[in-house]
Amino acid sequence: FPVEFQRALPILQQIEAHGYEAYFVGGSVRDFLLGKPIADVDIATSAFPAEIKEIFHKTIDTGIKHGTVTVMMDSVGYEVTTFRTETGYQDFRRPDHVTFVRSLKQDLQRRDFTINALAVRADGLVIDEYHGLDDLAAQEIRAVGNADERFHEDALRMMRAVRFASQLGFQITADTYNSLLHNAPLLQKIAVERIHTEFVKMMLSKNWRIGWQQFVKSGLIKQTPFFDQLDSVFPTFLSGQQPLLDEAAIWVLLAESLQLSREQLTQLLHAWKSANEVIEDSLSTLAFSRQLKAEAWPTAIQLYRIDANIIERLATVWPLLSWRADFTKLAIMYQRLPIKARHELQLNGADLIDKLNLRPGPIIGELLDEAEAAVVTGQLKNQSDILLQWATNQLDK
Ligand code: ATP
Ligand code: MG
Repeated sequence: FPVEFQRALPILQQIEAHGYEAYFVGGSVRDFLLGKPIADVDIATSAFPAEIKEIFHKTIDTGIKHGTVTVMMDSVGYEVTTFRTETGYQDFRRPDHVTFVRSLKQDLQRRDFTINALAVRADGLVIDEYHGLDDLAAQEIRAVGNADERFHEDALRMMRAVRFASQLGFQITADTYNSLLHNAPLLQKIAVERIHTEFVKMMLSKNWRIGWQQFVKSGLIKQTPFFDQLDSVFPTFLSGQQPLLDEAAIWVLLAESLQLSREQLTQLLHAWKSANEVIEDSLSTLAFSRQLKAEAWPTAIQLYRIDANIIERLATVWPLLSWRADFTKLAIMYQRLPIKARHELQLNGADLIDKLNLRPGPIIGELLDEAEAAVVTGQLKNQSDILLQWATNQLDK
């Protein structure tokens, strides 16, 4: 077992010692079998939440109604969820009822894809009720049971299909994909926050082009906010290799390749309920990208003040666009800046107070601001004696 499982093993063993079943399940088993790093370890058990709370001292009621209790072990929390079935998905999203059951097989049946429906017992036994191992080996995403039914129960699973295809570099099986084509309109029933989460995971994965192409070709994109109103041909992004830096990079890439105005990008970000920080980063990055596209090269002081993330972000976006700003030129301009941050300035408040006998006050900050700007633009050398002399002259004026 990898360390993540090793550490959580005592939880499985303690539950078993009390006469219940317990397994590692879900994404952690999939990633373990693929030899990939494991994100969160999920545990499923035949014990009911109250029974789990009797076995362990430190627990948190994470989602008791859905059967989830967090068990604390060495200050790490593990979600332990009672086997359950879900019924009555009247609204294409969430089940009306969850029912706790004692059978693992039933619990695995409610899971989305065969590769996510595997379980591992403490002694290493793999439980594979739905041929998930075959699909892992064949690198295929296949719905557990009837794909139409599964997408009707929860339409988000269609987004998850393209997300996993992208993250893992797997194919969606013909059956599951055909069903996705028919059922794409059901995605409209899903809260945009949930779509957003899957979309971002998809776009930040290594094979995001595969995911994006399927998202577009399947018509899922036309069932999402903003894009449902847009009459554009969506780009395919065939060239380029590197992954995108962060979520803001995704939005800037889309804004540039769809030639969205700043207002349109703002609408898109609001429609998708993006976080405020992401909105700010996206808009400032788009502005800088547009400035460069117009060949308006930044001044030294602008380049000095610009958030380094903006440049790093654009470095992952530009190679994917048909036009290319001269990134080398920008990098050289940046390298040539005499200082890259305030702390590199060979003058500080203490120098001014000690050596020029100044009293602490606003004058100190003003002098430092001016010195900084003069050094960045090359008007002053970044040497403490020169800067002190300059400050003295300023004070005499
Ligand atoms: P990640 O690595 O992104 O966490 P994951 O497979 O663990 O991927 P989660 O959203 O953490 O995905 O869900 C954990 C498990 O719960 C899944 O592997 C799957 O078995 C089940 N699951 C999650 N969401 C759904 C869903 N919408 N429908 C059916 N089963 C689901
Ligand atoms: Mg997970």
